Amino acid sequence: MNIAVSGCLLGEKVRYDGGDKHDLFITDELGKFAELVPFCPEAVVFGTPRPTIRLVDDKKKIKVLKNNDFTDVTKELQKGVKAELKRLKQMRLSGVILKARSPSCGVGTTKTYSKGGFIEGESYGLFAKAFKEKYPFLPMEEEDRLCDPWFRENFVMQLFAYDAFEQLKASSPKMKELVDFHTRYKFLLQAKDEKSYRELGNVVANHGSLEFGSLLKNYELLFKSAIAKKSSIKRNRNVLEHMAGFFKNELTADEKHTLHEQIEAYANKRVPLIVPLSTLHLYAKKYETEYLLNQVFLAPYPKELALRSHLQSSK
Ligand code: SF4
Repeated sequence: MNIAVSGCLLGEKVRYDGGDKHDLFITDELGKFAELVPFCPEAVVFGTPRPTIRLVDDKKKIKVLKNNDFTDVTKELQKGVKAELKRLKQMRLSGVILKARSPSCGVGTTKTYSKGGFIEGESYGLFAKAFKEKYPFLPMEEEDRLCDPWFRENFVMQLFAYDAFEQLKASSPKMKELVDFHTRYKFLLQAKDEKSYRELGNVVANHGSLEFGSLLKNYELLFKSAIAKKSSIKRNRNVLEHMAGFFKNELTADEKHTLHEQIEAYANKRVPLIVPLSTLHLYAKKYETEYLLNQVFLAPYPKELALRSHLQSSK
């Protein structure tokens, strides 16, 4: 899986002051499972070190000005943005992580100023805006938000689901492969959004006898929108209970009690999601419940990332 990342977050010395903003979660944890592809639209055109820049809202038109002498460098930065987008286009990306608050990379957190020098509001950096327009469904996040375990867990789940769909698409699937894919993602989708889950079920059922290429396209758009949504304790709890229902005839009274107690403890924020999930996984193995063992919801990304072990990873 390829993930585009603001170069400074990977430890590259590309910041205006010749420094970096090395992010250890990205390089040392996520980096074990993905190719991290650096970019820096500012270093490409202005070099490093360079004067700082800011976004100025000039009659609703965003301009980029140098902070030292107020030279308008909008066109130059746009060239850097274009060059980096062109380079990244060569790769099959499954996500992008950007540096918060940067005039180029900020995802809605970049300060904009009035011509008089007052802070006007917050906006997308030039690169982030162009990137979002070009890849509207690609998982996109800032490193700052990834410090929050809930954002982190949801984003990583989205990255791996997105990549899995891209792999499916690249394998020239037929209807059977799409149905298998959808079956494996059922509980994950339900945890994201019940409505999307049902709509995707209808697409796969293909009541309108749509030709497979159009059907796959419809599925892709709905799937990528669904995985971009954030899960919640309430929806996760529904999924856990639904999964528990698969063993209702097999579990002993003690096993049932343990499982329901753990689901309750999760719903009341006393234990993290990994607790009831591990028990479900154990019972699925014990009772050879193939359907559950195949559910991506049980292991949506490499377990070494251990993102569901934090109480705060659920809200
Ligand atoms: S332009 Fe983006 S990648 Fe380059 S230094 Fe600034 S924040 Fe980092």
